[in-house]
Parts: sequence; C-alpha cells; structure tokens
Amino acid sequence: MPDPRRAIPRTDAVLAEPRVAKAAGTLGRDLVKAVVIEVQTAARQGEIAPGDVVDVVLARLPASAASLRPVVNATGVVVHTNLGRAPLSAAALDALVAAGGATDVEFDLATGERARRGRGALAALAAAVPDAGGVHVVNNNAAALLLCALALAPGREIVVSRGELVEIGDGFRIPDLLASTGARLREVGTTNRTSVRDYAEAIGPDTGFVLKVHPSNYLVTGFTSEAALGELAGLGVPVVADIGSGLLAPHPLLPDEPDAASALRAGATVVTASGDKLLGGPQAGLLFGAADVVERLRRHPAARALRVDKLTLAALEATLRGPKAPVREALDVSADSLQRRADLLVRAWDGIDARVVPSVAAVGGGGAPGVELPSVAVSLPARYAGALRTGEPAVVGRIERDRCLLDLRTVRPEEDATLREAVRRCG
Ligand SMILES: *Cc1c(COP(=O)(O)O)cnc(C)c1O
Repeated sequence: MPDPRRAIPRTDAVLAEPRVAKAAGTLGRDLVKAVVIEVQTAARQGEIAPGDVVDVVLARLPASAASLRPVVNATGVVVHTNLGRAPLSAAALDALVAAGGATDVEFDLATGERARRGRGALAALAAAVPDAGGVHVVNNNAAALLLCALALAPGREIVVSRGELVEIGDGFRIPDLLASTGARLREVGTTNRTSVRDYAEAIGPDTGFVLKVHPSNYLVTGFTSEAALGELAGLGVPVVADIGSGLLAPHPLLPDEPDAASALRAGATVVTASGDKLLGGPQAGLLFGAADVVERLRRHPAARALRVDKLTLAALEATLRGPKAPVREALDVSADSLQRRADLLVRAWDGIDARVVPSVAAVGGGGAPGVELPSVAVSLPARYAGALRTGEPAVVGRIERDRCLLDLRTVRPEEDATLREAVRRCG
C-alpha cells in the first residue's frame, strides 16, 4: 500500500496554487510559506487529509501581514487604552495612506527646496488654538513633559503639588519621568489640599517651572482645594500645564475637563496634551505656548529623539481639519439615535436571546473620571462575549450581571452591519 504521506503536495506546488500565490503577493512569501509548512506537518501527522492542504492553508492565512487586528469597540469606553485609544476618522486614514509613500513632509514642491517639517499639521494646530503663540508636536504627552523638563528645568527644580503626582498607567509615573531627566521634583502641599502659598514658598532661584497636572484618571473629593492656573501664573516663573486629554476648547458634556485655550488664557506658559484621547487623533504629544518658549523646546537636542513621523503628522492634520473624529461623534451622539440602532439590530437577530437595555458609557483613557455618559446597549447571553472577541473582526463588549453587553455609544454607525453579522455568526 502506498504511503498516504506521499500524497501531501510539495511546498512549491502549494505556493504555486493561484489563490495561495495571490495571498503571497499581499502577505509576503515567507509568511505564507511558514503556514504551508505548518499545514504540511499537520498532514504528515494525519491531522489533515492530503487533499485538504491548500484549503487549510488558505483558511489559516492571516488577513494582513501585521498581527494587529481590527476590533469593534463595544465596551462603552470611548477612549479605550487597550484598544489603541482613539479610532481615526476616515479622513485621517486617507491622509495616512497618502503619506505612506514618498511625501512632501519636509519639501516644498513649488520651489523644490527643503521646507519646515510637518508645517501643515502645525498650521492646523495653531489655527485650532489661536491663543498659542507657538505649537509643537512630539511622540506623546509623556514626551512633551520630558521635553519641558529637559529644556526648561535642567538640573533645576520642578514645583508640583502632592495631589498631582500621577501614575499614568502600566506602572509609569509622571514624577519618575520628570526625575529621569535630572530635574529635581519639589513637592508642595498635601494630597487633598495645596494652596498658591505652598507654591510661592517653594519657588526660588532654582525653580525651573511650576507643573500643574490634571488628575485625569482619579478624583480627589471632599475636603480639597487646589491653586488655580491663574494664581500660579502670577508667581513669576513659567507654568507648564499638563491637561491630559487634549480638549482644545471647552466641551459642554465635560465641564470639569481642562482645555488648551482656557489654560493658555489663564496664563499657562506651556500646555501639554495627548493627541489620541479626546481630540480623537493619532498618538502624539501636543505642545502649545509662548512662541519663544516653544521655540526653545523645538530647538532642544532631545526634540529630535521625540519627533513624530510623517504618518502621525498626516493623521493629526486631517483630524484637526477634517470632519468630526469618531471620539467626538461618540461623545456627541444622541440617546435617541443609539436607541434606534439598537432596535434595528435586535430586530435583525431573529431567534437570538437579544434585548435592548440602557447602559452607562465612560470617557476612559484617563479622561473625565466620574463622568457617566447615558447610553444604549444590546444584551446577549454571556457566552457570546468570548465568541465575538475571537471572531473576525473581533468584537469586544463587556460582561454585566452575567450578560454580554454591546454598548453602541462606542460602535460607529458604519460598524452596525459588521456587528449584526458577527452576532449572527455566533448565534
Ligand atoms: C494620558 C495622560 C498622560 C500621558 O499621555 P500619553 O500621551 O499617553 O503619553 C499624561 N498626563 C495626563 C494628565 C494624562 O491624562
């Protein structure tokens, strides 16, 4: 009897099969070859029939050459750190693709000469915050703070309230980040109360700047007080305000969330913020402030190590100039439209134990703690959670009282059809 393993198609033959060859064109030959070898091994061990090798290879091929997979965020957490924070707008995605090849990021096509890197994004940022004399973009808000410490407080003191020594996440702490530059932290006040006098008494010839950090992922309530930015601005030293979430102007739903324009008007010398939280753009650190100070930051040698790539600049500019980013849509969407979408979905899931329930969404991503956004979810049996999470595309909801909730505030309307089919497949 012939050895059935002889019937297993050879690697070259599988790779030459038209559908496999086409996949190798988009995924890369090495990646596809590795899957072919894995499937041949399984066939040799008798786990797969030799005749099924090509089909199994095609089924096992990933959707893209990178391992990051698209996820429908149905958690109800608008800025979800573990899901990559802000989803980009269609305009930002188009800008990314356009900038992906060779692009005029540092070149003036009209004159054929070198031009200021990222001038379009910087102009958009300046236009969005007219109170800023200068603007600059770095890798993230942590990098913005690092640059402030390096350029404005080398070997000197940064005066900061004990109530604002923030751990950002994943074990990283702003005080450690600042101290790593060699600047010394001068802590003032107490956890719950810090007055402008506490700052004033600590300020001296060694002061580099006063730092005001927005407590973005926790609340200090009860017997509390803090010095206002306006008061600190009168102390005669630069004031750096880390507003965290990146609101450029006040937002009516988030009255306690600081914004760049108001912070500058209150007298902050420099404002730092993230690009991928409430602004809804790519990961970036935004710096706004007095023109001469921002120029010092921009010229510091470390600025080169913290600079952003052309993709970030492209996506940031499109976020600022283009239509409302998904994060802002999720904040501003009406409860009525969420209800309508939920009704339509549940009606489409004939025979599935699905119902529409009220839900409470959150801003998340270290922003607006305690703010509850009224929302609407579809509720499914708990077993759906795992099946949806491991599906293609993945859908991540949350478990509440032994039900799988898919909160529609964080699902974009154009994702409803995807959600509808994903649930059907698990039904
Ligand atoms: C999120 C946050 C940071 C860190 O910002 P990244 O952009 O993640 O580096 C720093 N400070 C505050 C107040 C924040 O909310």
